[in-house]
Amino acid sequence: MLQAVLTAKRRVAVREAPVPEPKPGEVLVEVRAVGLCGSDLHYWRIGRIGDQVIRFPQPLGHEPSGSVVALGRGVRGLREGQAVAVEPGIVCGRCRLCRIGRINLCENVRFLGAPGMPAALQRYLAMPAENVVPMPRSVDFALGSAGEPLGVSMQAFDLVALRRGERVAVIGGGPIGLCVVALAQALGAQTVALAEPRAKRRRVASALGAGRTVADDGGTFLRAVNAGTRGEGADVVVECSGAPSSLDAAVRAAARGGRVAIVGIPEVDLLRVDPHVWRRKELMIVNVRRSNRTLPRCLRLMREGGLGLRKAGFFEPVVGLAGVQEALARLDDDGAGAVKIVIDPALG
Ligand SMILES: [Zn+2]
Ligand SMILES: [Zn+2]
Repeated sequence: MLQAVLTAKRRVAVREAPVPEPKPGEVLVEVRAVGLCGSDLHYWRIGRIGDQVIRFPQPLGHEPSGSVVALGRGVRGLREGQAVAVEPGIVCGRCRLCRIGRINLCENVRFLGAPGMPAALQRYLAMPAENVVPMPRSVDFALGSAGEPLGVSMQAFDLVALRRGERVAVIGGGPIGLCVVALAQALGAQTVALAEPRAKRRRVASALGAGRTVADDGGTFLRAVNAGTRGEGADVVVECSGAPSSLDAAVRAAARGGRVAIVGIPEVDLLRVDPHVWRRKELMIVNVRRSNRTLPRCLRLMREGGLGLRKAGFFEPVVGLAGVQEALARLDDDGAGAVKIVIDPALG
């Protein structure tokens, strides 16, 4: 089978690899859609995320969906031909964090596409059956692959305990920021403002109902948030850009007693934030680490109309493995403004 691997910074190659065998308890999935993600782009651009440094060659991709083609011994409740979305974190089930239900923080997690791990940008993928979630009939493969970024957005809202009617502000209009907007809407909250430098992404955000969209997270963003909240600030701010300025911007945009969820991954190692703004408002600031069993809920929410993602222009045209290199270059190019690029390994 064919597989896309990172062979150096900014270089992806497609190579032959053996088709994996599903071990007992695993299923073999024919991968039909893999969303490219900001974390793939970090690895492509600088070869690391913080101290997670990759060694080349490294397979890429962690947002797969596809169909079940074989079942390992002992697998029940799934059948061949079933369309499924795949949860990319394989957890141990035995460590302290797994035992208290915070499986996304598993001490022994093996996450697809992370340094040294197998990944999803290949024709077939073997995964533990518990990582495989059947998709509703109305959810297609591309939407199913968006279950992962939506799941991270859901994790953010779980952690800040979002309530109906609350006002949300979003920094960063990449795939995660846009999923946050779509999900806020579906959960009965309202996005009042979104900051994003790329015009095309701002248009998608508007189509999803993001309220006021502005180009930067400075003074204009703060004014937009205040205009949308009678000067009170946002109940919940979700930071999805990873920009060095964004933590301080998020703290300023939050209401008194508000909550800030950090999802974006910075490429710098230290951030600046005004502690007095944060302290006087008694803000709760929480970092979001991937997601904890949010995929089934997200797939259910996509059942009718796919949360409007496709209609809003969230998805770029689907390409094959041979298109991964160019796709990552497009995601890296501010001028291109690409949103979610989905790869179908069956296209070669
Ligand atoms: Zn992702
Ligand atoms: Zn564990």
